[in-house]
Amino acid sequence: MDDRDGVIWLDGELVPWREARVHVLTHTLHYGMGVFEGVRAYKTAQGTAIFRLQEHTDRLFRSAHILNMLIPYDRETLNQVQRLVVRENGLDTAYLRPMCFYGSEGMGLRADNLRVHVVVAAWLWGAYLGAENMERGIRVKTSSYTRHHVNITMCKAKANGNYMNSMLALQEALAAGCDEALLLDSEGYVTEGSGENIFIARNGVLYTPDLTSALEGITRDTIYQLAREIGVPLREKRITRDEVYVADEAFFTGTAAEVTPIRELDGRRIGNGARGPITERLQTLYFDQVHGRRETHPEWLTLISD
Ligand code: PMP
Repeated sequence: MDDRDGVIWLDGELVPWREARVHVLTHTLHYGMGVFEGVRAYKTAQGTAIFRLQEHTDRLFRSAHILNMLIPYDRETLNQVQRLVVRENGLDTAYLRPMCFYGSEGMGLRADNLRVHVVVAAWLWGAYLGAENMERGIRVKTSSYTRHHVNITMCKAKANGNYMNSMLALQEALAAGCDEALLLDSEGYVTEGSGENIFIARNGVLYTPDLTSALEGITRDTIYQLAREIGVPLREKRITRDEVYVADEAFFTGTAAEVTPIRELDGRRIGNGARGPITERLQTLYFDQVHGRRETHPEWLTLISD
């Protein structure tokens, strides 16, 4: 990742990709106290546009607020920077990674003189869970790792340290020959994937867990609005793993994962073991939406060009 052409925005300036470095005593590197975002830009007929840029920037600031971290830029500046970084790297489709992290001014947990650094990188990233899986669906394993309890780390923050839990779960699922993990909360109810929210469909109704111990996904919110527009009822409720086993359909949502069908959980086939009809409709609508092929929600697309 570090040896390539291009530029990365770091603390107010564009620096060559290979020179965007930090010191090994960077505080966040040691303790994981930092916040980040994952954002995508897509090609539209009007040009490349970032999908739901404002919502991602707003979540970055909410995450920082939860961690008591002061971002030394305002939202509008970071919106402009994200557009700039896609433009300056000559990308017409991109994944963006804004991140705020503490510097190396001190090392103890009680260090209070730490500078907050901000970085925005962008690169080309295809289908996160594999192009062929967007149709075929993925195989998922319920994790032996519990999702963060609400009072251990803060699940509403997209915080660096939270992803150790995600990676443990994902590595376990991959080692078992699956594509992704499903994490349960401390009471045993379904929460989310390692980097995705989950939906199931049964008898024409969509269900998704509430946000107690899941990230407030922006793709999840998009699916809410798309489902409403096509008249598919959607309910938030506690979901058990066996409800997923007997669902007609299931899918993950996320900026990276987009809308990825789930064809199997813990060796049990879900529905007919392929992408279901509601999933397919919502997936198609989602891709139409992000590529600007729908008239609705023009405010969700921010062109990168001036
Ligand atoms: N849950 C977790 C743990 C995630 O990392 C992500 C990806 N940001 C999501 C859910 C989905 O969020 P979004 O749709 O905003 O990308």
